[in-house]
Amino acid sequence: MLRQYFEMKSRVPDAILLYRMGDFYEMFFEDAKEAAPVLGIALTARHRDSDIEAPMCGVPHHSVEQYIARLVAAGRKVAVCDQVEDPRAAKGLVRRDITRVVTPGTVLDPESLTPGAPSYLAALEPAEGSWGVAFLDVSTGHFLAGEVPAARVADVLALFCPREILLPEGAALPVSAAVTISRRSDAWRSSVLSRGAAGTAGISEGGLAAAACAAAYAREMRPQGLAHVGAPAPLSFGARMALDASAVATLELFESSDGSTERSLFALMDRTRTPLGARALRDALARPSTDPVELASRWDAVEELFGDPASAEAIHAALDDVGDIERRFGRTAAGTAGPRDVAAFAAGLAAAPRVAAAAGKLRSGRFRSLVEGLPDTADLVRRVETTLAPDPPALASAGGAIREGADAQLDSLRALRRDAQGALLAVEAQERKRSGISNLKVRFNRVFGYSFEVSNSRREKVPADWIRKQSLANAERYVTPALKELEERILGAEEKIGTIEARLYGELLADIALGAERVAKTAAAMASLDLFATLAEVARRGRWVRPVLSETPRLSIADGRHPIVEAARREEPFVPNDCDLSPERRILVVTGPNMGGKSTFLRQVATIVLLAQAGSFVPAQRAEISVVDRIFTRVGAVDHLSRGESTFMVEMLEAAAIVREATPQSLVILDEVGRGTSTFDGLSIAWALVEHLHDTPGKSAFVLFATHYHELTEIALVKPAVANATMAVREVGGRVVFLRKVVPGAADRSYGIHVAELAGLPEAVTARAREILSNLEKQELDVRGAPVLARQAGQSAGGGQMLLFTAQEELALEKLREVDVDRLTPLAALSLLATLQERLKGK
Ligand code: ATP
Repeated sequence: MLRQYFEMKSRVPDAILLYRMGDFYEMFFEDAKEAAPVLGIALTARHRDSDIEAPMCGVPHHSVEQYIARLVAAGRKVAVCDQVEDPRAAKGLVRRDITRVVTPGTVLDPESLTPGAPSYLAALEPAEGSWGVAFLDVSTGHFLAGEVPAARVADVLALFCPREILLPEGAALPVSAAVTISRRSDAWRSSVLSRGAAGTAGISEGGLAAAACAAAYAREMRPQGLAHVGAPAPLSFGARMALDASAVATLELFESSDGSTERSLFALMDRTRTPLGARALRDALARPSTDPVELASRWDAVEELFGDPASAEAIHAALDDVGDIERRFGRTAAGTAGPRDVAAFAAGLAAAPRVAAAAGKLRSGRFRSLVEGLPDTADLVRRVETTLAPDPPALASAGGAIREGADAQLDSLRALRRDAQGALLAVEAQERKRSGISNLKVRFNRVFGYSFEVSNSRREKVPADWIRKQSLANAERYVTPALKELEERILGAEEKIGTIEARLYGELLADIALGAERVAKTAAAMASLDLFATLAEVARRGRWVRPVLSETPRLSIADGRHPIVEAARREEPFVPNDCDLSPERRILVVTGPNMGGKSTFLRQVATIVLLAQAGSFVPAQRAEISVVDRIFTRVGAVDHLSRGESTFMVEMLEAAAIVREATPQSLVILDEVGRGTSTFDGLSIAWALVEHLHDTPGKSAFVLFATHYHELTEIALVKPAVANATMAVREVGGRVVFLRKVVPGAADRSYGIHVAELAGLPEAVTARAREILSNLEKQELDVRGAPVLARQAGQSAGGGQMLLFTAQEELALEKLREVDVDRLTPLAALSLLATLQERLKGK
């Protein structure tokens, strides 16, 4: 047996092997040691029925799914090794085989899936300076592929959050991610690739290679087939807004900053009625569109439902019956769906026309094409309804899944069984009378079959022609020739019934699988209708408005609100704020006190842009936006110490990415840059960064920059497209009141010490801090009383020459000023000149 075990294990070295023995699945050796703590079960050393001595643990076969789900949730791969012949018929060791391998990225069981979230397997194939990437959600059949520049792989992975990543052997994962990694050898990959990837328009070679690997790997894990997985669709970066990992986190799309999923933007908006709709909402937020025509069509759809709440409600109500047809179909096509699952799938599919009917009155193009393009799937529904019994069992093997009338042979066998069962009752009555044992009953036992059970106290009443079959503690079991004959008839019929039911059920699944394309299209239509009804409802409840698309670069928001902060602040009203950016005024430097609301304002502008391009209405009085191709965010202190990058390094990496990749259509959110280093270094970098974004052609993106470096507000004096805004505060009797209102102008201080007081720092510390602050503030002006950083003649914005001196330059100037030229010898002058030059050259 152990030899067989090791043979199986060698085929799945990276998976935990569940090896079927009797009524248990056993795990041995390292697998057992790894699994026992995850599953919370006892590790033992010796097998209960055999003399195997090894670390082991086991789980009962009937609840194996829940244990597999737990292992998979913990990121493990699980291989299931079953008995593939009847143990009673086996000579010697029962033949076993690996019947399935469940991995986090290919799992189909509902226990292991989150209804409203996709479950992606990612495949990565290195190409020249870029990566071919494919994302396959085996549970739904959604499949995307494309090629991504090496620097953007991390962002794309952050968007799709794959549960498992497939990599070539030896390739390093280009990002650090806590997901299950699977590897395939070069030989495996070249054999997959030699079969040729199905060409899809719009996907480059690298993308197709990754797609081929993802599909081949998934098929390996799911040998029964994946009829619902078609050709990949292009990842289409051009038509989608690019969001980097930092923006996904900063805008709290799927998780709030404290790691909660309930306070995310997605959770706030998720009023969908089906998991299909929830996944569509997620996708809309993760991959907003940049196509003006698409945006107008989405807004039209939302607007129509916004104005027709009755239709929106009718669509939602009808959707309640649809359920997750996509995943149920996935399980059906992969052969793992039970009859109850298939019946629920058919009921869901049958509800689709009712949803379409609820949308029947709607006029926008989007709805017309969804409703008119809805495929007819009545044949699939009928096929299920005419095959499955009403209220079928969860598992096909339980028997009774197929309805009366579905198959003549099955019906007659069942009639035979019923007759025999009737005859059995007749025999029972007859023998009860003959023996005079008043409580005589026919009993059934899996091993011994049908028998009469008689307690020892009544043994003397047993007729002589009964045959004793088995002795129990207080009873005996007997059979009669008539009972024996009926038993053969019943069990014979039962076996045939089981075989026929299994065949019919298998045929049913195969037939449904043929409807893959129509089902996918129906599911997509249901998802869209759910999404639009949801966006309309969210807009109505939150008093959101339809965005206006500007053809020239523009970001003009009146009374914008941050939806998450607004929802969280019930006791105090949220203060709406405006934002107006255009090519002439495209960089806004926002200063203001700590806790004033700078970060909230920045995020709110980005969130409004993102929502608009997701197809949603937006939380504002009015919003006019031009299409944004990418939102960059550089926010606060994040460090990736595990990656060996310090807080400051992360800041600079993000800043570098912005400078490298921003376009005139990008929106850049900078919330503190340069805080992780010394004040002078940080301020200088921040200043130079803003200047660069302002001056470099092709980089003139919209920039919102929140900072506590008040010196930065001086840039507006010399760079025409830079404007200043500040968070208004009022000082009342020495106390600061935050008004949360963005107003033009610059803050002259941060009120940091005030916030420190609020936070409970002792008086002794804050008083001393005030003293130090006032000393420092005196030096913010240079010797001539001019601002230290931006020096210029006249204070008019524009024209003036900006001089930013380094500390060395300051010292050199100081020296020069001090020199008394009248008393300088030529030699001393020369030597001074040399010193100054050295200093300026930074030696
Ligand atoms: P710091 O400089 O310390 O990072 P900040 O200026 O970025 O602070 P925020 O973090 O944006 O300030 O806001 C502080 C708090 O004020 C938030 O927790 C939020 O609840 C509240 N707040 C922000 N903006 C508004 C608003 N417009 N209306 C009402 N409350 C707001």
